[in-house]
Amino acid sequence: MPQHQMRVAIVGGGVCGLTCAVALLNEGVDVHVYEAAAKFGEIGAGIGLGLNAIRILTALGVYDDIQERVRQENAAAKSAVSAQPTTGTNGTKTNGSHTDNDDIRGWFQYVSGTPDEEILYEFESGERNAVGVHRATFLDALVQRIEPARTHFCKRCTHLTREGRGVTMHFQDGTSAEADVVLGADGIKSAVRRFVAGTGDEEADPNVKFSRTRCYRLLVPTQKAAAAGVKTDFRAKPTCFVGENKHLITFTIRGGTMINCVAFSSDADSDPDHYPPAATAPVEKVTVEQVLETYDDWGPEARGLLNCAENPTRWTINVVYPPLLPEQWVRGPVAILGDAAHGMLPHLGAGAGQGIEDGYLLGKLLGHPQTKADNIEEVLKAYATVRQPRAQRVWEGSRKAGDIFDLREGREGASFAQMRDLWTYVWSYPLDQALEEAVASLTTTGIFEGP
Ligand SMILES: Cc1cc2nc3c(=O)[nH]c(=O)nc-3n(C[C@H](O)[C@H](O)[C@H](O)COP(=O)(O)OP(=O)(O)OC[C@H]3O[C@@H](n4cnc5c(N)ncnc54)[C@H](O)[C@@H]3O)c2cc1C
Repeated sequence: MPQHQMRVAIVGGGVCGLTCAVALLNEGVDVHVYEAAAKFGEIGAGIGLGLNAIRILTALGVYDDIQERVRQENAAAKSAVSAQPTTGTNGTKTNGSHTDNDDIRGWFQYVSGTPDEEILYEFESGERNAVGVHRATFLDALVQRIEPARTHFCKRCTHLTREGRGVTMHFQDGTSAEADVVLGADGIKSAVRRFVAGTGDEEADPNVKFSRTRCYRLLVPTQKAAAAGVKTDFRAKPTCFVGENKHLITFTIRGGTMINCVAFSSDADSDPDHYPPAATAPVEKVTVEQVLETYDDWGPEARGLLNCAENPTRWTINVVYPPLLPEQWVRGPVAILGDAAHGMLPHLGAGAGQGIEDGYLLGKLLGHPQTKADNIEEVLKAYATVRQPRAQRVWEGSRKAGDIFDLREGREGASFAQMRDLWTYVWSYPLDQALEEAVASLTTTGIFEGP
């Protein structure tokens, strides 16, 4: 039974909203999730979870379940296909190692997309820094931790209103629901953010912009790629093919039977801070021929891989820009998290990880014994004050990584070597650092009593 009397509502049941729900339930908080779609669901693609996210998911008790699901799915996937080739024969170095559960991402190697497909840089470390899992596997592990009675579907929030201390969420189907605290995890086009930041309707939201980056997302069966003559062993080491204003990220999922590929292209611009208005139709189905058009000057391995794509989609990536200040994350008992707060370019594979950090801290703070109805706004402000600078630094790092991969920083090894610092900042974050900082600031300002 929930220990807290406070009613918390989460708008949006993506990976960040559901992680936050699990974090709150673990602390005994009464939480309900309102999701626009008819059921929870993720796109058919992989997601990289860095060590920072893994630490949190482990603390929440979810990671063991993810691993178990991955093991079962890998076994099923492996038994469904015949033996895979295990070594590259294209001159591509494969000094990483893979195990039975080989969804482990070491450090990337960077290979020129041009026809010579020369290795431009390779990190020597085979450290385990992140895992690649199928998004649906991750989402399912979260969903099974939340009682169905706490989840409400077809509830697209259109706007919020405040009566007294509480908040009313209004949904597109004409219904409404009340809560004491509302957390907006409703993605890049967040309705809750518009309430918090006090900005008009969706069409005129000044806080979301087009990043000038598009990508094709596709999965390629490893066996299909090998049969088509692709020689690189993508299981041995995650590989990034790089070129001017475009790059292709690859890592394996499903026990190495599936290669997760994201092929990016960006518009070069003399002013890096110029972001056009947000794209209104961000996702569309495309053909393999359309994918290949963008990479027509690339070599046989990259093109051979893309040629094996199944059901590719094209994404126009919007970002939160200009960055929101901490005070724009909170209004009264309403706060935002995940992409709603800091939607970023995906080049560090860190966006969801930042939302997972948000959700974990919110769970700990709202479940804190000293959090009460009359200090909730200060508690949410402490959350935003601690989280915003880190999320923004990761946002900036993600943009920088895009510049490196798209060769805007040159082709020299020193350019790629910068990735170590960018990733280390993301991955090496101690589990409870944010909580300690938030509680210290609440204690210093007298909101919480000291020890
Ligand atoms: C190509 C690509 C690759 C990426 N790779 C990685 C990676 O490897 N690692 C990583 O950490 N991150 C990665 N990211 C980023 C990651 O996908 C996002 O940061 C993450 O999915 C954001 O989760 P979220 O829950 O905040 O938002 P979303 O996933 O957008 O979920 C929002 C949810 O809210 C619902 N919703 C929307 N509006 C409303 C409303 N008005 N009312 C009610 N519900 C609503 C939606 O239906 C959805 O379920 C990648 C992104 C891209 C584009």
